[in-house]
Amino acid sequence: PVLRVAIMGLGSYGARVAEAMKDCKRAKLVGLISGTPSKVTEWQQKWNIPAANCYNYENFDNIKNNPNIDAVYIITPNALHHPQTLRVAKAGKHVICEKPMAINAKEGQEMVDACKAAGVKLLIGYRLHFEPNTVEIIRMRKEGELGKLLYFQGQSGFRIGNPNQWRLDPKLAGGGAMMDIGIYSINAARYMTGEEPIWVTAQEVKTDPQKFKPGVDETITFQLGFPSGIIGSCLSTYNMNNLDRFFINGEKGFADLQPASGYGPIKGRTHKGELALPHPMHQTLQMDGMAELIFEGKQPIVPVDGAEGVKDMKVIDAIFAAVKSGGKVPIKIA
Ligand code: NAD
Repeated sequence: PVLRVAIMGLGSYGARVAEAMKDCKRAKLVGLISGTPSKVTEWQQKWNIPAANCYNYENFDNIKNNPNIDAVYIITPNALHHPQTLRVAKAGKHVICEKPMAINAKEGQEMVDACKAAGVKLLIGYRLHFEPNTVEIIRMRKEGELGKLLYFQGQSGFRIGNPNQWRLDPKLAGGGAMMDIGIYSINAARYMTGEEPIWVTAQEVKTDPQKFKPGVDETITFQLGFPSGIIGSCLSTYNMNNLDRFFINGEKGFADLQPASGYGPIKGRTHKGELALPHPMHQTLQMDGMAELIFEGKQPIVPVDGAEGVKDMKVIDAIFAAVKSGGKVPIKIA
């Protein structure tokens, strides 16, 4: 079957996902949830969406009575993901939710529990878990081609513009660069090493307290310790451009991705040479992969479920605690 998807939040990333789904074999955009009627009309025309599959933020609970929608893809500001996921789960539809899944691990776990109780899947928009070059590095690591792993480096950042956007409003963003872009280094530290971090230390730098209000982090450097002794060193920032790199070093080899998390192409090299796999739109692969996961239970090389999202949120919680205390904070990922 084809996964029939409604997008909630018709913003810039929602538009990208809609565009990418055009080429999907297993997923199709069939519904819209938006607070802006003019956008709904525009999207309806562009994507040929029937009025019966269009909802707003007041009435979308009625989606439970719609047999023509299988899943809702939540692509709204971070702090809305939790309440919206609970409502979609209650309506009995599968949830695909953008990263960060929530604004802390407690909310993330509540989302996992609510979807489990409702008997629906909860998947997080980790598109890189389907990206061929990323998948190849994970395969090489799993098969021991890098040898015993020693070191991970992650650099995630860009210089953010408009000071009035929701990304700089702590109530809607739940944080700053860490929630938005730093999370890529956290997630990569976990999938490139194949281990869960056990401690973190972190330092925050804020050059512009006007733009980056309390609760909105601008630049954080953090260090991660892993059970086998691998050390991680990462940077998350809203104040520097051209930072998108993941590097893993082992006793037998290395992988160096740059750009590592942008929309593509993902580029890089390993001790074996340049990475040269094809570069389809990540979101096309993601949505086809998620349909296979939902319908056939086929798992991607690393998980994209709610539990995976909670692990990243636990690391973020620990990073913020480490910034506050200045000390080494243990991380407990079951
Ligand atoms: P955006 O501002 O372009 O779009 C957000 C949408 O949410 C807008 O259409 C807005 O109208 C709507 N919205 C609904 N309720 C709102 C409210 N109360 N306040 C403000 N806006 C509201 O943002 P975006 O870049 O599309 O990001 C949306 C989500 O997608 C974020 O969680 C972000 O982290 C995630 N994202 C993921 C990727 C990725 O590569 N996986 C890339 C970009 C964004």
